Amino acid sequence: MVAVSHLPGADGPLRRVAAGSVGPVPAQARTPRPEVVQLAARWAELLPQASADSAENVETLGVLLDRLGAALAAEPFWPLAARGIGADLAASGFCGDRTGIVGDAPEDVLPGTLRLLRDAAPAALGFVGPSQRLRLVLALDELAAGFAGALRFRAHQAQEDLMRATLRARRNVERALAESEAHYRTIYTQGPVGIAVATLDGEVVDLNPAACRMLGLMETPPLPRPAAAFVHPDDYEAFDSAYRRLVSGLPDTMSIDVRFAALGGGHVWGHVTGSLIRDSAGRPSHLIAVIEDVSERYRLRTRLVEASSRDRLTRLPNRDLTEQAVRQAFGPGTARVGLCAIDVDDFRRVNEAQGHAVGDELLAALADRLRTAAGPHLVTRTGGDEFAVLLTDPEGVGEVCAVADRLLESLAAPFHVGGRWVGVTASIGIAEGSTAVECPAELERAAGVALSWAKAQGGGTRAVFDPERDAGEAARFALVAGLRGAVDREQFRLWYQPLVGLGDGVVRGYEALVRWEHPEQGLLGPGRFIELAENSGAIVPLGRWILARACREAAGWAPGPDGRAPYVSVNVSPVQLPEQGFVDEVVSVLAETGLAPHRLQLEITEQAVLGDEPASMDALSALRAAGVRLALDDFGTGYSSLAWLRRLPVHALKIDGSFIDGLRHDRPDPVDESIVGSLVSMAHALRLEVTAEWIETEVQAERLARLGCDQGQGRWFGDARPGDSVPGGPARTIE
Ligand code: C2E
Ligand code: MG
Ligand code: MG
Repeated sequence: MVAVSHLPGADGPLRRVAAGSVGPVPAQARTPRPEVVQLAARWAELLPQASADSAENVETLGVLLDRLGAALAAEPFWPLAARGIGADLAASGFCGDRTGIVGDAPEDVLPGTLRLLRDAAPAALGFVGPSQRLRLVLALDELAAGFAGALRFRAHQAQEDLMRATLRARRNVERALAESEAHYRTIYTQGPVGIAVATLDGEVVDLNPAACRMLGLMETPPLPRPAAAFVHPDDYEAFDSAYRRLVSGLPDTMSIDVRFAALGGGHVWGHVTGSLIRDSAGRPSHLIAVIEDVSERYRLRTRLVEASSRDRLTRLPNRDLTEQAVRQAFGPGTARVGLCAIDVDDFRRVNEAQGHAVGDELLAALADRLRTAAGPHLVTRTGGDEFAVLLTDPEGVGEVCAVADRLLESLAAPFHVGGRWVGVTASIGIAEGSTAVECPAELERAAGVALSWAKAQGGGTRAVFDPERDAGEAARFALVAGLRGAVDREQFRLWYQPLVGLGDGVVRGYEALVRWEHPEQGLLGPGRFIELAENSGAIVPLGRWILARACREAAGWAPGPDGRAPYVSVNVSPVQLPEQGFVDEVVSVLAETGLAPHRLQLEITEQAVLGDEPASMDALSALRAAGVRLALDDFGTGYSSLAWLRRLPVHALKIDGSFIDGLRHDRPDPVDESIVGSLVSMAHALRLEVTAEWIETEVQAERLARLGCDQGQGRWFGDARPGDSVPGGPARTIE
């Protein structure tokens, strides 16, 4: 037991009387008497345990008993000495956690103790006289008083500690509160952030100086005032709905950017973070909004958007802005929209010839002229050398055309750039329409399509978008897409039209005419797709298929009444003829199919051999050498000269149907008749056979026979028919 007694009873006279015995009870050097130990053990049972170690408790109490014995034996007897023993009894922990006294009587203070000691102590401590018993009674009263005093002191001290702690805590809280209030007051009054307090009904009840400054106010305005009164009308709806959501408590905070109407006009962009404040019962009581001035951020953003949407060279709005402007033009209040898509013709040439610096200078100057010519209409730069002019609510396409004409005229005079004069032209595509039926993307596409038409006309001009033409082009485009692979998908058919000897009416040959069995559009004549195939290159595989198919079928044809099997006449596209390997292909097809070369006639157009293209001429010579017949198709529609015709290694001429048409009436067109007559004589002089196309009547057939025409072809003799119509031709199942 190592407690240090600080009890009042342990000091003063008691200490002097029982020196060295004040407790915490020191271990005694001597061994206590067994009777004392026994008594101590009985006493320990009556007291709250001071230590978990019961031997230690007994030992401590034994020491106290010895001290009691000494006090009782002291001369003179001084009963107050026992007070220190009672105080030390408490100080040693034999009071449990008691801090108060239940009753005033000594027995109440130490229930059982007084009786035990009164009865057992004399024997244990070794005294028996009546005076000592009296001393014991007095001493026990003092012991109880010392114990009670110690408990009281202990309670008093606990209270004092508590009070001191409470005071300390209160002081700390007050200091913290004062500090935090000062802190928050500084933020509120001097901080750069605007703070507003508002009621749940939307009434602003407090504004801090920063918020006032933000709104351009010199001092706090009269409050309360509706929050709506501060918000820019355009943002009111968004602000109001955010406010309502916050007031509803879901969520507890809101964050929104709004414009506040600033004093003296204009507005301030504020980033508002609102919080819902609740009372102690958890009910929403009011709102606090922290407002940060983010105007600069918005100004920067506007400048960036502005910079990114303006072309630096010409200072014109760029493509993004054009699209934005077109979209806006389709907004409410606009009935019609017109768009001119402008492209500088051959601008690349200027760049290449004069350098990019001059090119840039030219574009800037060009943009200036366009801007002036466009008047009130928006001019934008949509690409390198591409511009656009947007007309909102034009009177009709006429007004857009007039503007386009002004634009073209404005470019007529040459430009002085890079120290020299440069002339340029431009093409313009025009689209105009109602905002109710068009959409921005369609208008832009239409102007672009019209621009390509203007370009196709050679430039320096304008073209107006025509939906029908566009639809036709779209259909053609779809056909071209379908053309590729149509050979592999076996969609082509060959029909045959007889070529008849006009003198005897005997079929000499058949012209192979291609048809496309289109999966969606049905049977298509060559007029629909040959030109597309030529332009797209698809004619090469198609022509190869036609040649092979025609030769294979013709190889099986039966001989006619004159004992000779008819020849097959295959049309060859001007694209095919100069193709490398064409002649070899013909020769190998003949070899593969077993068709005699003289039974194959290739029809070529004047166009194919016009201009003496060496490759084509060489091909013709080689084919002729191989024994293949060659016919010049649609003769008379081209510009062949007699001299040229003389050199051409062909066997026959097919006079174009348009000359034959004039011979159909009872009284034939004398001009057509004499032209045909002359053509026949000329051809015969060149030892060329002559075939007349498009013979539709008997009259025509007779007249042509009279004029000396060798062969005829046309409805009168029979239209083109599938291959099974040819004697000896394939069975119907093949087609
Ligand atoms: P083309 O070679 O001059 O063929 C004659 C065209 O005249 C055929 O039209 C034929 O059907 C038509 N025709 C025949 N008789 C009459 C008649 O009495 N009156 C009228 N008005 N027309 C008649 P189709 O089959 O539509 O062929 C048109 C053109 O397509 C051909 O003209 C030819 O240039 C080209 N073509 C046809 N098949 C092929 C082919 O296999 N390859 C190539 N490259 N072109 C072909
Ligand atoms: Mg032909
Ligand atoms: Mg023809």
